[in-house]
Amino acid sequence: MIYDTAIIGTGPAGLSAALNLQIHNKSILWIGSKKLSDKVTIAQEILNYPGYTGITGKGLNDLFRKQVKDMDIDIVEQMVNSIMPYKGHFALMAGSDLYEAKTIILATGIATSGTIIGESGYLGKGVSYCATCDGHLYKDKTIAIVCNNERFEHEVTYLAELAKKVYYIPSYKYTLDLPENIEVIRQRPVEILGDKKASGIKMRDASEITVDGIFCLRDSVTLASLLSKLEVSDGHIVVTRAMETNIPGVYAAGDNTGRPYQYAKAVGEGNVAAHSVIQYLAERKKEEKE
Ligand SMILES: Cc1cc2nc3c(=O)[nH]c(=O)nc-3n(C[C@H](O)[C@H](O)[C@H](O)COP(=O)(O)OP(=O)(O)OC[C@H]3O[C@@H](n4cnc5c(N)ncnc54)[C@H](O)[C@@H]3O)c2cc1C
Repeated sequence: MIYDTAIIGTGPAGLSAALNLQIHNKSILWIGSKKLSDKVTIAQEILNYPGYTGITGKGLNDLFRKQVKDMDIDIVEQMVNSIMPYKGHFALMAGSDLYEAKTIILATGIATSGTIIGESGYLGKGVSYCATCDGHLYKDKTIAIVCNNERFEHEVTYLAELAKKVYYIPSYKYTLDLPENIEVIRQRPVEILGDKKASGIKMRDASEITVDGIFCLRDSVTLASLLSKLEVSDGHIVVTRAMETNIPGVYAAGDNTGRPYQYAKAVGEGNVAAHSVIQYLAERKKEEKE
């Protein structure tokens, strides 16, 4: 099936886009966390979102989740690793699954934990964002896993079952039951080391570990690796007022397009992106008939 649109990210921007496209009867592939956005949940008290004086982040997220359920919108709980133009539409890789969509809305938020020096250069050369896709390459080998969210712990367990030795580098309080072959490193990784292929990581205290491969499991993927040729400036996706990116059929909304990082802006941009998608699809349909 080729979806009318694929929305990447389940924060306020993605939600707003999904609601509008559902109302307009578009077929939606909505990919992200079923818990929606951690950034919404952790806000203590929200004073600037219209209609809800002093609501907690958790309270707002619960209302968002209720609305998703009431509107009968499905969420595919995966991370999108890459998007490629394909036969006049787009192909998306999420884990080992491939999806196709006519348009894309990037509602990925902004990464809170930075990438490591050298990471993007070694992507596909010893650095991977996808345990399911690349785990088999490291059977009985030594790997490092950099992880920032407990929702990837099942992938950590999966990789530990394959690898001989795992250096686990969590930047959060992990709840994982550690198998014997996992060693936890409580240092911040600062640089990926290697020559033609990644072969180690340097830590903030200047110590180094030697590995065959490195998995970076985070709740966001760098924009450059998600979609090549996407125009980015100062870490934000360049968009028009209609939330169009430089790639026809690809739209962006929310924190990833720039400051201010706020719910109301994210929701507004998600709405605009959805309406731009509707217009784009209508124009394409007209062109196909002519
Ligand atoms: C502690 C805190 C308090 C805040 N308080 C306020 C406040 O009081 N008022 C206010 O207006 N704003 C506040 N904010 C800012 C607000 O949270 C953000 O502006 C808002 O969440 C942005 O929405 P978004 O949809 O753009 O991104 P996000 O909410 O970050 O959602 C993006 C989602 O996309 C997912 N994602 C990313 N990449 C991928 C991928 N490749 N595949 C699948 N999913 C992906 C992420 O995991 C995430 O779930 C606060 C933020 C924080 C951290």
